[in-house]
Amino acid sequence: MVKEPAIFFDRDGTLIKTNIKNSKPIANNNVEKLSFFKDSYKVCKFLKKKYRLFIVTNQPDVGSKKIKKKDVISINNKIKNELKISKIYNCYCYKINCKFKKPNPGMITKAAKEFNIDLKKSYMIGDRWKDIVSGKKAKCKTILIKKSYSEVAKCKPDYIVENLGEILKIINYE
Ligand SMILES: [Mg+2]
Repeated sequence: MVKEPAIFFDRDGTLIKTNIKNSKPIANNNVEKLSFFKDSYKVCKFLKKKYRLFIVTNQPDVGSKKIKKKDVISINNKIKNELKISKIYNCYCYKINCKFKKPNPGMITKAAKEFNIDLKKSYMIGDRWKDIVSGKKAKCKTILIKKSYSEVAKCKPDYIVENLGEILKIINYE
């Protein structure tokens, strides 16, 4: 069976807006306040022509009981339906050493097994160094979306863009 290429997106600060506190992004898990970036629909619609779409997201506030899992799931369901994402992988752990938690590549490699994905032809896209490191460990190409909080020095992405829409100039989807 021929392997498919995929796009792995981070969730918060990549496809949906976050709150920023002390120069750090804070995940929004209130479905009423869910807000997509203006290019999220367009990017997903175009990339879907050639790639299977996934989200891989750390949600450690569930593990540490600051937020409820059901709130994460309701926001995920809305994103999945609106953007036509194949599957959203969550890591709820707040411990550092979980193999699924970014910067570890466990969520990406799990998706690759479940959906027969060709990781070398795939991209990991995110707004934080953890996203880029997880993508590199999984042998994907990586794109960092630059933010005021971007910790570029901690990673070497293959590409850096100013906003989500710019990834369509890098990834060939026709
Ligand atoms: Mg993020």
